[in-house]
Amino acid sequence: MNEMFCFQCEQTAQCKGCTGRAGVCGKPAEVANLQDKLVGALIGIAGNRKADRLVITSLFATITNVDFDAAKIQELIDQVHVYGHNDYDMQDIWTAEEDIRSLKSLILFGIKGMAAYAYHAMVLGYSDETVTAYFHEALYALGTSWTAERLLPLVLKTGEVNLSCMAMLDKANTTTYGDPTPVVVPLTIEPGPFIVVSGHDLKDLQLLLEQTDGKGINVYTHGEMLPAHGYPLLKKHPQLKGNFGTAWQNQQKEFDGIPAPVLFTTNCLMPPRPSYADRVFTTEVVEYPSLVHIDEDKDFSPVIAKALELGGYPEKHRMTGINGGDTVTTGFGRAAVLSQAGKVVKLVKDGKISHFFLVGGCDGAKPGRNYFTDFVKETPKDSVILTLACGKYRFNDLDLGTIEGLPRILDMGQCNDAYGAIQVALALSQAFGCGVNDLPLSFVLSWYEQKAVCILLTLLYLGVKRIVLGPTLPAFVSPGVLDFLVTQYGIAPVTNPKDDLARLLHK
Ligand code: SF4
Repeated sequence: MNEMFCFQCEQTAQCKGCTGRAGVCGKPAEVANLQDKLVGALIGIAGNRKADRLVITSLFATITNVDFDAAKIQELIDQVHVYGHNDYDMQDIWTAEEDIRSLKSLILFGIKGMAAYAYHAMVLGYSDETVTAYFHEALYALGTSWTAERLLPLVLKTGEVNLSCMAMLDKANTTTYGDPTPVVVPLTIEPGPFIVVSGHDLKDLQLLLEQTDGKGINVYTHGEMLPAHGYPLLKKHPQLKGNFGTAWQNQQKEFDGIPAPVLFTTNCLMPPRPSYADRVFTTEVVEYPSLVHIDEDKDFSPVIAKALELGGYPEKHRMTGINGGDTVTTGFGRAAVLSQAGKVVKLVKDGKISHFFLVGGCDGAKPGRNYFTDFVKETPKDSVILTLACGKYRFNDLDLGTIEGLPRILDMGQCNDAYGAIQVALALSQAFGCGVNDLPLSFVLSWYEQKAVCILLTLLYLGVKRIVLGPTLPAFVSPGVLDFLVTQYGIAPVTNPKDDLARLLHK
């Protein structure tokens, strides 16, 4: 089979949809079609609570840049079929009337993103009945012929339930690893053997750190793993040395000839190039044909052996952020920021902080994402930038200075730490006795894949207005649905930093 249809991420072909033999991300048509088949099979067993874990794992496996392995997706389909053979044909969604297709896509891509968060909580032993039950409810709805009026409330419910899901993951992470504290993270790679760990799964990093203790191997975070440096239980390992490179879309360039193995724990894996394919390992739901997969036994010996074999750089290897900075700062999680709440409120009341911007979300490969660098550079010197997820690599090595000792850029963590940012916004609104939309706070979001979709839906559920979204609007948002979002929420596409800033500062 060499034909496919997929439009679930921002880099979809021509902002319309990937068709033909493979998607822009490198996902072959065979895998795309099997992923559709898998979702159709899940819809067919919606409501069977014996399949909870499988539902979460399978949805996660269909996220962009997670699983490129047809055999693995077929294995998941076979496991779903153990619970029933009533597969829904996903073509019914892709060819539906455009508003129905759009609303069902928002629900489906939203629960795919939420499944990733539920999965991370699940590996740490946390679950939430509201969240788990909703996967079944949403899957059931996808298989119906409900009207737009009936589907729309579910779109917002996806955002509501995702808030619970992110709260669950926040609790799982902070209970297991402690509340993050601010830390400066070097970008230079020390001489000697090292391992790069990419993705979001803190448990995998923990296990790898335990297995590399005392072995003379340094460990560097990559992409969305950067915030791990802030967690007390992880940073107590002295070999957790720094961060390698920038965001996911630069991996094929940054990993070229790297003298070290790279472990992918979640998205975003790109098809590896021959110059480093022999040193890329996957684990959990990430799979790519021909790469060595570390299974649930979590024996990282092959990764460790590869690090020792390759030996690392002979001397210090300077790497920088995209603006030339040698370090980045992270660890301004919910607790760290809220511990400064009194000071922050006073700085606002004294006129020393004029505005907060939440500039966050995913990074990506398409041109136009420099918008977010330029936007941050243009922000007033008395404003604070809250950020999260890998979109921050566009500006997190900039030195924007401090306001009375408070750094102007506060990295709150991974994309799921949007929960922490929401808590900070709610605390500010309480302190000032106003609604979130009345605060001097603006949301400027970059999106790429499906986790960004569920976070956007959470912000809409919370009634957050005037979100600026880029670099392009999702292909799956129909004109009718966009009109609703603009009318109800004032959502707007990015234009240019100067005009957007002027508009946001005079809202
Ligand atoms: Fe295209 Fe994105 Fe789907 Fe990949 S995940 S096939 S790039 S729309």
